[in-house]
Amino acid sequence: MAAAIFAAAVARPSARLGPLAVEAPDEDAFTLAVAAAEALPVLPGGGAPSRLDLVGDFGPSAEWGIPEALGWRDTAVHTSSGGPAHLFEAIRGHGREAAERTRIVLAVDRSGIGRGRGIAHGALAVALAIGPGTGIQVDHVAAHVRSPSEPPQPLRPEHLGGRPSGDPVALLLIGDDERLVAAAREAGGLGFAPSVVPKAPPGTGPAPTTPYALALRASDPETAVHPFVLGALGADRDVYVRGRVTGTVAWSESAPAPTMVLSAPPAPDEPQALDARSEGAYVPRARYLENLPSRWRLEADWCPGCGRWTFPVRGACSGCGDSEHLERRPLSRRDWKVEAATIVRPGAQPTEFDGTVALSGAYGVVIARSPEGPRGTFQVAGPAAPIELGTAVTTVLRRLYPMEGEWRYGRKALVVKSPA
Ligand SMILES: [Zn+2]
Repeated sequence: MAAAIFAAAVARPSARLGPLAVEAPDEDAFTLAVAAAEALPVLPGGGAPSRLDLVGDFGPSAEWGIPEALGWRDTAVHTSSGGPAHLFEAIRGHGREAAERTRIVLAVDRSGIGRGRGIAHGALAVALAIGPGTGIQVDHVAAHVRSPSEPPQPLRPEHLGGRPSGDPVALLLIGDDERLVAAAREAGGLGFAPSVVPKAPPGTGPAPTTPYALALRASDPETAVHPFVLGALGADRDVYVRGRVTGTVAWSESAPAPTMVLSAPPAPDEPQALDARSEGAYVPRARYLENLPSRWRLEADWCPGCGRWTFPVRGACSGCGDSEHLERRPLSRRDWKVEAATIVRPGAQPTEFDGTVALSGAYGVVIARSPEGPRGTFQVAGPAAPIELGTAVTTVLRRLYPMEGEWRYGRKALVVKSPA
């Protein structure tokens, strides 16, 4: 049985710079990818995928951090740089195992912050769940590399490993490039019905979001097509893909965050910017890593002896001190209720948050209660604003502060605005 994309989820960044949706100071490829993966519908069997492909410009923490944050302990992780060719190779997979087990592809486009060449497009992360069954099936991928001054390669049947069978065949051209018009004209000669899919979702500004366009197209039963040819033309390569849509793709989005308006791009991740070290709350790396199950996955200990929860975990029951019979259980990541809230104003922050305050000003802190019962203390993601007691918050993985040359991450509370 062939493998197909059966579910897709998207996570958008929560800051704006002019017309572009860009990463907030506490967001990056790692946090966006985790948000997209957490928005996926439950995987078949509820377990971890057998393989995770990271496609895009991920930071150094992502390769071990993403499976850690998602609790995917036995998942094999593979990384490749961005671009449609790598994306579709990852979707197609390799060998027999690729068709038989559930895999996840996480593709991230960053907005180009900190790379010294301006910000040309918005940021977005997409999670694709692939496994046996129906959905979007990728049968053949062909990439043609050329010099940027050369025109795109005209589409020919040999680029597709043979003509797509079945009828109708639609050609989806992803992008807003005028060269696509020429490619569409070529395709007309091959008997395809061309249709240009916008590559940027509304409100993100231009973004090379091929997976977004693909998943959106297939998730809409009105526009879904059966056999398709997809073209994504880049500055120096053309990628053509032949595939089929054999069923609807389940589609979801991560919870929208309150928008932070930036007046200038956040500072790039220069090594010296990561050297900040707090005298107030120095957390050695070993202790940080030891606490990740609670910090990142909200794992708590439940004591069968006295019925108490201990969160964050600390190796012994907070009620009776038992350390031998504790049961590790994950708390819900959503629907925590705020029981106390405050705003930390500039000057009152611990020194490790100096950078946060310099960029974003005051920030909120809440004590919230989980649906299971234990309470936790969280920094609030997004602009500081008064929060009423009883407000429901969801939790999201974000950057906390730089320490010892790396970003430290943890869960923050996110006030989800009602769609009204
Ligand atoms: Zn106990």
